[in-house]
Amino acid sequence: MALNLEDEIQYLKGVGPAAAKKLNRIGISNIRDLIYYFPRTYEDRREVNTLRDVKEGEKATFRFKIVQHTRFLYKGKLHPKITVADESGKAYLYCFNRDFITNALKVGVVFHLTGAYSNKRGSKSFSQFEYDLDTSAPELKILPVYRLTAGISQKFLRKLTDYAFSHFRENFKEDIPGFIRDGYKLGKKGALVREIHFPGDMDALRRAKEAFSYSEFFKYQLVVALARNSSKKIKKNRSACPRQLKEDFLNRLNFSLTKAQQRVLEEIESDLNESRPMNRMIQGDVGSGKTVVALLSGLFAIERGGQIAIMAPTEILARQHLKTTSRYFQGMPINISYISGSIKGVRRKEIVLGLLKKEIDVVIGTHALFSEDIVFRDLSLVIIDEQHKFGVLQRGKLRAKGEHPDCIVMSATPIPRTLSMIIYGDLDVSVIDEMPAGRAAVETYITKQAEIEKVYDKVAEEVREGRQAYFIYPIIEESKNADLKNAIDSYNRLKDDIFKDMNVGLLHGRLSDDKKDQIMDMFRERKYDILVATTVVEVGVDVPNATVMVIEQAERFGLSNIHQLRGRIGRGSDKSYCYLVPDRSTSRDAFNRLRILQDTSDGFKIAEYDLRRRGAGDVLGKRQSGIPYFFIEDFEVNTKLIYRAQKDARRFVKGEIGPEEERGRFLKAFIKSDSYKSAMYYFGG
Ligand code: ADP
Ligand code: MG
Repeated sequence: MALNLEDEIQYLKGVGPAAAKKLNRIGISNIRDLIYYFPRTYEDRREVNTLRDVKEGEKATFRFKIVQHTRFLYKGKLHPKITVADESGKAYLYCFNRDFITNALKVGVVFHLTGAYSNKRGSKSFSQFEYDLDTSAPELKILPVYRLTAGISQKFLRKLTDYAFSHFRENFKEDIPGFIRDGYKLGKKGALVREIHFPGDMDALRRAKEAFSYSEFFKYQLVVALARNSSKKIKKNRSACPRQLKEDFLNRLNFSLTKAQQRVLEEIESDLNESRPMNRMIQGDVGSGKTVVALLSGLFAIERGGQIAIMAPTEILARQHLKTTSRYFQGMPINISYISGSIKGVRRKEIVLGLLKKEIDVVIGTHALFSEDIVFRDLSLVIIDEQHKFGVLQRGKLRAKGEHPDCIVMSATPIPRTLSMIIYGDLDVSVIDEMPAGRAAVETYITKQAEIEKVYDKVAEEVREGRQAYFIYPIIEESKNADLKNAIDSYNRLKDDIFKDMNVGLLHGRLSDDKKDQIMDMFRERKYDILVATTVVEVGVDVPNATVMVIEQAERFGLSNIHQLRGRIGRGSDKSYCYLVPDRSTSRDAFNRLRILQDTSDGFKIAEYDLRRRGAGDVLGKRQSGIPYFFIEDFEVNTKLIYRAQKDARRFVKGEIGPEEERGRFLKAFIKSDSYKSAMYYFGG
């Protein structure tokens, strides 16, 4: 059977509808997904070891003979216990809930087992292991280890992948220019990808990963280089930035901008005096004052007669932007409007008309801004908050509502420079690396569950002094995943029991927008002393009087998430306290990982640490712009590859490398490809 990459996974031999469903859960819906579902790690089975030579807890492959079957009792049930032996000694296999294993592992049989044993009172035992009855030499190789889901085993995935490869190895389209492939001796794409799944040896694996990474980077950097080229050609005819509104604004502001804010504003102003559209990201830690700078930039646009759109990823944040913006622009000749999915009927028509007639200067909203009925008379600046939460295409959609509008994206998610270069390509980056004066530091503590009383005491103390606190939980309500604490139950417990005499509010993502808004207002107005919440308060929420944050089951959150959350406190001049309370069952590793939050308040450091640990996909959203998931494994090597790919791509576009005819042919095909189309849309070339 010949296979195509687009064929649905369920047509693959050995995959029924049930298995297909499970595979869908891990993102595999067609053959292509399977082929690019790279191993998480590898298991080296090239060597057979003896019990004597392997230490307790070390994973290895053994060759055992089965000596005896017995049973053992666990939780009122009998499970198979199998005695095995090699020339150096014996061990027991405790086979929890694997009743049928004795059919496969019959007494007298010799087989291969891979696992780590534990050693208790001189007796060695395995409770988790894989086995292989085929002990012939070819089985001794490096095996891929994939991320799994319930009902899908390593063996099954390995078999599927192997089968898929054997049926169309030759059909891989080469997607980078031949002369580059040959020049770097990268090898054929199909062979590379296969090598990453089933490496011959570790050196070949490393080479294959590098070659694959380079190719992915090259394609992406090529898109960026082409976009740079074409956006250079766009000429906006504009006069120098008028400054009256800016002056007015600054005069009314009750603080002065930090040096960093001033610098970034100057960078933006100078962009806006150029004839090509601005594409700039403002990066700065939570509370560093990005919003003011973005709004000031908006004033240039408005004074030039244009409209601005501000987009936020959540309702709460969008509404907060509405509040802040209205407050900042109060008394100025600027009309502000708000749009959300729930605004319908007459009200919506008014907004639509207002935008068309340019009676509205500023519109703030969520994804609703993408709706087809939202049309601008003259959209000249797009401001996007927390932009990594929006998909590439979505951003492009908003920008397409104007004639090459300028674009500012704000991000409080500090992204290591190398990575931002890959992801944002030709976005210019401005960094606000200074906090407004008078901010008190946030002290962070990791507190054991057993000592939570101390935390309650601290919360009570702060509340008595007129301040407020957040309690954060990983999920909203009780779920099948029973070991997760949920906000609703905790809210009831805190309200009725622990903080009986205080006002406790509850905020989570499933409440209606109005309700959320109402609760945030009440918290802001101090009608609540304590707010119990999920991560809906993660971005942007600004209540300077809140000085304590308690994050329960902190080990469940990403480090960057926690850093964001903790940015909700320490926004006033009072000292603030963040308590991370890991679950009792938290592993030592997970516990230690939280330490970095205690040690630093530098968002960039935390992000980089997070990134190295979890991989780019988890930090930035899945399948971002062709970053192979193993990118992060070898950060330094990959950084070099990126720079090289960027240089090559630029020279390629300028016509400095490769035979002209081949270059032309390649570009023609490349421009028709999907990766090109979606990326180009984003860059707005
Ligand atoms: P970010 O968007 O970077 O998280 P914001 O722009 O929301 O930060 O600013 C956080 C708070 O600090 C706001 O209440 C804002 O009014 C205030 N702020 C911004 N810049 C300054 C400054 N230079 N001096 C004092 N306060 C400032
Ligand atoms: Mg903000």
